[in-house]
Amino acid sequence: MGKLYLVPTPIGNLKDITFRAIETLGSVDLILAEDTRQTKKLLNHYNITTPLQSHHMFNEHKSVESVCSKIQSGLTVALVSDAGTPGISDPGFLLVRTCVEKEIPVETLPGPTALIPALVNSGIPCDRFCFEGFLPPKKGRNKRITALAEETRTIIFYESPYRLVRTLEELAVYFGPDRVACVSRELSKVFEENIRGNLAFLSEYYTNKPPKGEIVIVVSGKN
Ligand code: SAM
Repeated sequence: MGKLYLVPTPIGNLKDITFRAIETLGSVDLILAEDTRQTKKLLNHYNITTPLQSHHMFNEHKSVESVCSKIQSGLTVALVSDAGTPGISDPGFLLVRTCVEKEIPVETLPGPTALIPALVNSGIPCDRFCFEGFLPPKKGRNKRITALAEETRTIIFYESPYRLVRTLEELAVYFGPDRVACVSRELSKVFEENIRGNLAFLSEYYTNKPPKGEIVIVVSGKN
């Protein structure tokens, strides 16, 4: 029996990868990658020549069984996503669940993910939090935000730059304009930015300065 490794990769700065992640990617028989071209860049940077196979949300339902068969026949396989930890708003869950069902060993390496630096850096309580990932763009969106208005733990969202202002405005309506939040943009990259304030201020700030890049919103829980 082989093993499935989930290997976190940098969310921006290529130096944010552990020695063990590099060692694992170099020693497994096969790497499953969300986007093989993207992962190839990382592997080239670290002189890793392990074979790559594509594994993304459009083919994972089909490929899960054959991946499990490979592991059962003795191969070691690493799953990576484009950035951060696989399974966190990225493919991974389906494969892990199937491996667990088939009693295939699974090991996830600790490593980069965008939500933790955004949370810790926000200055908003980080002892209790909930991760919401991306809000639904349409169906179920209002219901979700309404339910979250009562949440007392710190809430973390992933968001695209194109929807940031709309989301901040909606959160201000449902949570109240004074709710404290922090928008972290381009974490670990050259133009990293962390803007703190209440939801009214943040909506106005990003209306006047349309954002680019990758974004995490951290919102304090209801008092
Ligand atoms: N698996 C990743 C993780 O562990 O964080 C998340 C992948 S999800 C498809 C991509 C989203 O993560 C982005 O839209 C953004 O919300 C967040 N993200 C990823 N990298 C980021 C960065 N460097 N700065 C801020 N947010 C980031």
